[in-house]
Amino acid sequence: MSGRVPAESAKINELANGLRAGHRAALARAITLIESRRADHQAAARELVQALLPRTGKAIRVGITGSPGVGKSTTIDTLGMYLIERGHQVAVLAVDPSSARSGGSILGDKTRMAKLAASDHAYIRPSPSSGTLGGVAAKTREAMLLCEASGFDVVLVETVGIGQSETAVSDMTDFFLALMLPGAGDELQGIKKGLVELADMIAINKADGDNIKRANIAAADYRGALHILSPRSEHWQPPVVTYSALTGTGIAELWQKVQDHRNAMMASGEFASRRREQQVKWMWSMLENRMMARLRSDAAMRAKVRKIETEVAEGRIAAALAAETIAELLQ
Ligand code: GDP
Repeated sequence: MSGRVPAESAKINELANGLRAGHRAALARAITLIESRRADHQAAARELVQALLPRTGKAIRVGITGSPGVGKSTTIDTLGMYLIERGHQVAVLAVDPSSARSGGSILGDKTRMAKLAASDHAYIRPSPSSGTLGGVAAKTREAMLLCEASGFDVVLVETVGIGQSETAVSDMTDFFLALMLPGAGDELQGIKKGLVELADMIAINKADGDNIKRANIAAADYRGALHILSPRSEHWQPPVVTYSALTGTGIAELWQKVQDHRNAMMASGEFASRRREQQVKWMWSMLENRMMARLRSDAAMRAKVRKIETEVAEGRIAAALAAETIAELLQ
């Protein structure tokens, strides 16, 4: 890229080579670079992602959501090990915007996925804690590309059951899996919240021991509810399955559904069109993030915007004129 000093480009090259060779330390360093807020780091990160782009896009990208306690980490641990035993390389990422406030994400924490954390074929990265959901999602998307370039062929992106972050994760994955607990009633809330419009499958966890019967009842309730909603794709009716992350029962069937979905989407052409739409949407959301970042980072601009904001609040300037004035500041 123009304006880069050769030494920096050489460093990026070296990092890219280490990453392509599958070195875990290079991958970790590259993701740290992406997560950095420093302008020079961000420029280097863009260069790095661009250089690695031809090696990205081949992984199966699965989003996983569910309320705390539903068994996300246990599921990822069990599913991840199941996939590794079948020759896959599994990356686990997380989108948890609340980590920006709390100072740390519990999602994607290695201690929650003990077996996977000990495997040479897995890479676990907690959520970046960089402010807005848009910022967190953008960094996770780029981390996903780096993982793919580094040889991971399954990427699991975990998120908590709150609306906006679920949409963000669904926008960066091919398959969106909603985990639920046995015992209907409360859980059917998910249907109302619109989660089901995003979910490609509902999986009821903890279907073991005394819970099996309740899990089957919940599954029947969800099937009934899904039946009356129009599915997200005309080529896929979201299934409802039961499984146990603790015993592993039903994990193979769960993964089979992910593959069935992929095959159906590939055959209909929807896989390619969804990926294309996602890329374009990413571009716009990154542009939005950058423009907002500029408005916030420049002190003089921040002061002007604040003044305009006050004038709008006090009814002295119309919102439309104010927006126009701010847009002009960005030119
Ligand atoms: P998360 O907060 O969604 O990540 O949930 P965890 O994976 O930490 O699980 C929450 C609790 O549920 C833990 O005590 C797990 O041991 C338990 N749990 C997870 N999966 C199962 C399961 O399949 N069966 C049973 N009986 N318990 C489970």
